[in-house]
Amino acid sequence: MDTVSKTKRSWIMSRIKSRGTKPEMTLRRAFRGAGLSYRCKGAAIDLVKPDIFFPKAKVAVFAQGCFFHGHSVCNGFKPPKTNTAFWVNKVLSNKERDAQDDIALRVRGWVVERVWECELKKMTEEELSAYAEYVASRVRSRSHREHA
Ligand SMILES: [Zn+2]
Repeated sequence: MDTVSKTKRSWIMSRIKSRGTKPEMTLRRAFRGAGLSYRCKGAAIDLVKPDIFFPKAKVAVFAQGCFFHGHSVCNGFKPPKTNTAFWVNKVLSNKERDAQDDIALRVRGWVVERVWECELKKMTEEELSAYAEYVASRVRSRSHREHA
């Protein structure tokens, strides 16, 4: 039974949209819970803009939408019936850019984490905080190494 009115629902949806994609928000919340302060605006290097990153530790995290980044494991990209060629090209070029970004970051000593939307959806709260703790431990040990 739908208890939220249609107007209220579209208001909620517009709020969600204007505040970033959902997988991104889920990760940010988990990282905050793990006591991490992150950056989510601007570029990490050159024109590469990870969704969440830790400049000192050189850790970049991308929250990948399964449609826009063409996740092959869950078959997340199903070409729409209209503008099919546009969408196929769009997703192909997104995938190419992802691969190039990974290389650009890694050659400069960054660690790259890519988390898929479908993986995040499947995670329990416990698994999510375990993942955030894993990233937090990497960030902390790499930050300290930079100081040494
Ligand atoms: Zn997926």
